[in-house]
Amino acid sequence: MIPYGRQDITQADIDAVVSVLQSDFLTQGPMVPKFEAQVAKHVGATYALAMNSATSALHVACKALGLGPGDWLWTSPITFVASANCGLYCGAQVDFVDIDPNTYNLCPQALARKLEQAERDGTLPKVVVPVHLCGQPCDMKAIQALARRYGFSIIEDASHAIGGRYQGGFIGNGRYSDITVFSFHPVKIITTAEGGMALTNKAELAEKMALLRSHGITRDPAQMTHESDGPWYYQQIDLGFNYRMTELQAALGISQLERLDHYVAYRHQSARRYDELLASLPVVTPWQHPDSYSGLHLYVIRLELDCLRVSQRQVFDSLREQGIGVNLHYIPVHTQPYYQCMGFRMGDFPESERYYREAISLPMYQTMTELQQDAVVNALHKALRL
Ligand SMILES: *Cc1c(COP(=O)(O)O)cnc(C)c1O
Repeated sequence: MIPYGRQDITQADIDAVVSVLQSDFLTQGPMVPKFEAQVAKHVGATYALAMNSATSALHVACKALGLGPGDWLWTSPITFVASANCGLYCGAQVDFVDIDPNTYNLCPQALARKLEQAERDGTLPKVVVPVHLCGQPCDMKAIQALARRYGFSIIEDASHAIGGRYQGGFIGNGRYSDITVFSFHPVKIITTAEGGMALTNKAELAEKMALLRSHGITRDPAQMTHESDGPWYYQQIDLGFNYRMTELQAALGISQLERLDHYVAYRHQSARRYDELLASLPVVTPWQHPDSYSGLHLYVIRLELDCLRVSQRQVFDSLREQGIGVNLHYIPVHTQPYYQCMGFRMGDFPESERYYREAISLPMYQTMTELQQDAVVNALHKALRL
């Protein structure tokens, strides 16, 4: 089976992890701060906080921005459930903004219209979470302009987008948002097995997220309510969690980070090759932004169903039967049973629902060979019964 995504683990990665196992610190040692500093430097952010997952990073990002009961978080329906769940963890309500049919990202025009209505209704969001789907950067300039006008904060869910660039700067540099989150799950661009990171340029947010990721506990006298009792002393000044990354994970991340730019370049090469090989087929290949550089975590095609005598399900099943590990990213979040209980209905976000009926993620990963790619294309020809 050719998987849709797969990690690349080298001997250098293995050596890095083994040397941590033989060291004094398995957690809370020097590797996590080193990994944070390297990622921050790479993308051009001031502060970086490594965590045990992107989901945890999204949760503490929301809390640091003050999201709570009575507030709204808005995101795209075409994302992994974690982009929305982080709002619910904080006791806030979640709503969605439909996607742009061209980029598959949250549509800035739809956002503008929904904000106008929400202003009249008194239901403006406190936090908006644009998701750089497949690594394709959202229209952050437009979203930031709306944030300034309506006073909401922005968390970029860049789980797919590390190594990508927008308007000449790396995703994660914080020019257009308050906080950016990366995921290091094995299917993502670089991996720490499980892991995530929150980046910001704002000292206050970084301090808050650092507290929340580790029980709300501080050892910094400047943060304490009164003088320290002694060298053993710490204070809990907020209700936090244990969302820390281990030293093993950070060592793997540091080793993987060295290959990030190479990985993304290779993904672009593979994507261009898919674009050419699929040009004559009744499928829509991914649109690329002229002034940005996608992280290209996923290569999603859309079936031109009007030109086909087979259904999306038949194409999908045929590809799987032929050993091609295709997938579908994502099931619109508002159609999940848990969200349907909140009153969302089929038909609420028509562009997202149409996307879901047409999309298929083809395999793409850093070690995929041209032969494997040819096998995917041949299988797709068969599946489309051309
Ligand atoms: C993978 C992913 C997440 C969650 O990442 P974890 O590190 O697995 O918690 C969140 N949002 C998006 C868009 C993702 O793809």
